[in-house]
Amino acid sequence: MELKNNVYKIQGLNVKDIARKFGTPLYVYDADKIVSQLQSLKNAFSEQNIRIKYAAKALTNISILKLMKKHGAGVDVVSAQEADIALAAGFEPQHILFTPNCVSFEEIQEAVDKGLMINIDNISILEQFGHKYHDKVPCCVRLNPHIMAGGNTKISTGHVDSKFGISIYQLPHLLRVIKSNNINVTGLHMHTGSDILDAEVFLKMAEILFGLAQDFPNLQFIDFGSGFKVGYKEGDITTNVYDLGMKLGKAFDNFCNAYGRKLEMWFEPGKYLVSEAGVLLVKVNVIKTTPATAFVGVDSGMNHLMRPMMYDAYHEIVNISNPNSIQRVYTVVGYICETDTFGWDRKIHEVREGDLLAIKNAGAYGFSMASNYNSRYRPAEVLVYNGEAHLIRERENMEDILRKQVVLDLD
Ligand SMILES: *Cc1c(COP(=O)(O)O)cnc(C)c1O
Repeated sequence: MELKNNVYKIQGLNVKDIARKFGTPLYVYDADKIVSQLQSLKNAFSEQNIRIKYAAKALTNISILKLMKKHGAGVDVVSAQEADIALAAGFEPQHILFTPNCVSFEEIQEAVDKGLMINIDNISILEQFGHKYHDKVPCCVRLNPHIMAGGNTKISTGHVDSKFGISIYQLPHLLRVIKSNNINVTGLHMHTGSDILDAEVFLKMAEILFGLAQDFPNLQFIDFGSGFKVGYKEGDITTNVYDLGMKLGKAFDNFCNAYGRKLEMWFEPGKYLVSEAGVLLVKVNVIKTTPATAFVGVDSGMNHLMRPMMYDAYHEIVNISNPNSIQRVYTVVGYICETDTFGWDRKIHEVREGDLLAIKNAGAYGFSMASNYNSRYRPAEVLVYNGEAHLIRERENMEDILRKQVVLDLD
């Protein structure tokens, strides 16, 4: 979304027109932005054999998955259901990496039957996998390097208290299980969480993986997970993928030489590909001044965008209807009966009842974490593709809310 001559536009379309046509609240995604993020990552690692496995949980709409596929990405899924959506979007099973955590062995078997690549993050599951499949089905192993990524433990998954991955300190046990069951480990994986600050953390993680890799003779790829940081507000540090490409690329090439053959380098970005491409458009229902602040109450809430309340995430908010006026300080809140604040003390161009606001960086973990709390309908989703706004998910209605409810006859 860009501001040109006082009009907010996406691919040349006036954002106000999109909201008028599809109503609010509305998620709008810019396909060009998604594709350009994908391209930057590919360019940054053009010297390596890079494979991008889009982390589907960030934004799981089937049309978004199709867009990823069209542009050469594979997909990383964390549940059997996400896998089914990816298959429905047309991904070949072997291009789907299944990275679940604490699921039953039955779900893993289901994924093997579908032909997915399995990423195992627990020794108990690996043992069962080995007993059942021996070397017949290749797998990837998820390791926990105990590196703390970023500053927020809710989104860091590599530290010592984390439930993710097999600890690198369990390596001897891990190798025994692999050897005694003749398991064919073709990939090593690490994902230490969102918002890794810089190339140095990736490099540290990579060095640990490279050190361990010698014990795994059948590797075809190393998966560095994600952790790419995008900017949520002005001045935020973001991952410089070109810097990362140079440093990590070089380290990877050196490693491959030492290992004896050229491996594939995998990444699983979610946020990096879709966060900035998305906005949540909302309408201002009321302005309510209290002794403390001026509240802007909008026709959405934490049920539609959970991140501010769940992670204290900062999402920039702009006034689409009145981009030219003076700025005032507001607290933007939702309509849910719960404290659901989108942003405290925000300087926004003067807000009037009926104005259209955009909440930015809403592409990742926006709709995919939305719920029907307060029996509110989940929003519609629109993808702007080739200069046209396409509806990619209809707004819900009362039928959707009642669909699976069972009305007891109490007479
Ligand atoms: C969530 C997740 C990702 C994506 O993380 P982002 O911060 O959105 O890039 C990648 N890999 C795994 C295994 C994940 O669980």
